[in-house]
Amino acid sequence: MNTQSAAAADSSVTYEMRDGIAVLRIDNPPVNVISHAVRSGIVDAIDRATADGARGAVLTGAGRCFVAGSDLSEFGKPIAAPELPDVIRSIEAAPFPVVAATHGVALGGGLELALGCDYRIAAPGTMLGLPEVSLGLVPGAGGTQRVPRLVGWSRAIELICAARRIPAARAFEIGLIDAVAEGDLLDDARAFLAGQERPKRRAIRLQPPAEADDDIDAAAEKALRRGKGRPNVAEAIRLVKATAGADAEAALKDERAVFQELRTSDDAVALRYLFFAERRAATVAGLDKALARDVATVGVVGGGTMGQGIALACLAAGLSVTLIERDDDALDRALSAVAGRLDASVSKGRLTRDAADMRRAALTGAVDYETLSGCDLVIEAVFEDMAVKTDVLARLDRVLAPGAALATNTSYLDIDAMSAGLAHRDRVVGLHFFSPADVMTLLEIVRAEATSDAVLATALGFARTLGKQPVVARVAEGFIGNRVFAAYRRRAELLVLDGASPQQVDEAIVGFGFAMGPFAVADMSGLDIAWAMRKRQAPDRDPKARYVTIPDRLCEAGRLGRKAGKGWYDHSGGTPRPDPEVDTIIDAARAAAGVTPADYDAETIRRQLLAAIVNEAACLLEDGIAERPSDVDVALVHGYGFPRWRGGPLYWASRQDRAAIEADLVALAEAVGHGHRAGPVGPVLDRLGAELGVVLGAEQEG
Ligand code: NAD
Repeated sequence: MNTQSAAAADSSVTYEMRDGIAVLRIDNPPVNVISHAVRSGIVDAIDRATADGARGAVLTGAGRCFVAGSDLSEFGKPIAAPELPDVIRSIEAAPFPVVAATHGVALGGGLELALGCDYRIAAPGTMLGLPEVSLGLVPGAGGTQRVPRLVGWSRAIELICAARRIPAARAFEIGLIDAVAEGDLLDDARAFLAGQERPKRRAIRLQPPAEADDDIDAAAEKALRRGKGRPNVAEAIRLVKATAGADAEAALKDERAVFQELRTSDDAVALRYLFFAERRAATVAGLDKALARDVATVGVVGGGTMGQGIALACLAAGLSVTLIERDDDALDRALSAVAGRLDASVSKGRLTRDAADMRRAALTGAVDYETLSGCDLVIEAVFEDMAVKTDVLARLDRVLAPGAALATNTSYLDIDAMSAGLAHRDRVVGLHFFSPADVMTLLEIVRAEATSDAVLATALGFARTLGKQPVVARVAEGFIGNRVFAAYRRRAELLVLDGASPQQVDEAIVGFGFAMGPFAVADMSGLDIAWAMRKRQAPDRDPKARYVTIPDRLCEAGRLGRKAGKGWYDHSGGTPRPDPEVDTIIDAARAAAGVTPADYDAETIRRQLLAAIVNEAACLLEDGIAERPSDVDVALVHGYGFPRWRGGPLYWASRQDRAAIEADLVALAEAVGHGHRAGPVGPVLDRLGAELGVVLGAEQEG
């Protein structure tokens, strides 16, 4: 055996020659992003293998994955040569076949690199995908050209535009990869090359499989709809379709030019900011992650709307769940509701029967709290009532093993007060899920006064297990998201009192990119919960503060939202319509408050709603409820439908003319009137600006 092993010029790529096969290993911890050093390292290693007379080469990754993507921190500046397309050209030009041996993930530039190799083999469980579109980009190193040649146009459009990750087995099925490894990945890759004389096989020279135009158009239409008019989605589709033309070189150049143009677009910079913000939100300064305990068994107390969703989310992550209800009847109802949701997923084709059965088998029910004594974590999701929750926590604290964590899913209540009498207060943490809990990605982790570092670290690890986006908050009414949302909703209601119509308000904010307006959301979730809260708070209300009576009158008229067939809108015909009864209630409220209705345009409405969000965000940062401005952005994007491509409310505000934001804040203060609290918006935006500089590097230079 003839073996030479050495690091290439740059140790980000190591080189080893054995029996005429060169092994190029990308080694750029933690996830082998394609940095400049990696790109140069691959080109050097290919040259070296050529000089060494290699018969073939295997390109693989060291550590936990092949390549997670390009190095986004390079995207704000001109990208230094060799760029990724140059690297791929050198692989294609090598006189020997190169096989990409992937494991863990092969994403973005990593998948494009693999597509530039002659063959691809993946370890079982490898996830492959092109997430560029979700970052406001298009794949820029041949992804839009090579994917359709391997899997066809409509699948390419679907894969690229939905930024979907697919597992190795599926990638093999559709022809994106050539083999799934059965044994050791590297051995299998070598055997793949050695088994028969593999010719060079450049994907860029293949013809896409034949496909009906109608199918391609249908895939494109679906992608455009889902892409909500973002320009990069239309570009990605155009580029994929261009594969039909004869000139591959021209199409590759076109793709690169579009990628370069988009790289510094507003959308791409905002989405890159969010990408980093999401990762920062999952960290807490000074917290030792190693303190986290594994969570394998979870107890959920309360099997209502939230308890069922939380149970489903845990089951989907492979955890064992014990669901507790008040009595056998309630338990039966909750368990059959969960089973029904699993069945529905099977009939919709989202889940296989086997997977659903496995999840069902991992769920048990009980009425006795003792059954939870072996759980690693118990989450209570009982009624939003201080006395009920305090009692439930006390009972749980008595039965749980030392070291087990105890979480409350309260939306508003004071967790410090709720846990005050417990023997082990330090094990209590807030885990605030959003409805539907198995679908929504946001998970607010509420760090109470006494929450131990170990429990906080466990909660963050648990969020990762569930695939949720954590944001850490301190105890406060509504934590981060609901508190900001309350200020936004209040501003929306004042706009209606002062002259706008509910549909004008909803349309204005949908025009900004929100999925729904505040009144459509209120109708969807039901008006009664907020009504009950207002009644509870009535004795403490400041009589001098402006109070909008419209929602109370709507509730009194039985207009409790969609479930009642009417709320802010008439829902009797399916699609919500304005309703004269609502106009009458609004007119009466204006008359009683002595308001002469003003005319509002969509831009004013939009800016006022955003000002309310930005102001409240600044207040809660001042109060220390959220740690970083970017955490608020992450919460609003993941939990409240704030448009991703705008980066979040504070990021959005930081990119606006500061004088215009200040004018909006003055108008906000006037409209809210007595009791308005002005947040330190200027300093918060300055802080965000400083963090942005660190996160995005010299963005403007590009
Ligand atoms: P729900 O009324 O649908 O469910 C509560 C369930 O708890 C009921 O099934 C009830 O039988 C059960 N329960 C009550 N006391 C119990 C006890 N002592 N032991 C066992 N089970 C008991 O309420 P929900 O909407 O699921 O809300 C639950 C919690 O989640 C509340 O704190 C709420 O504020 C919070 N939350 C709700 C939402 C939402 O959108 N619904 C969102 C986030 C958080």
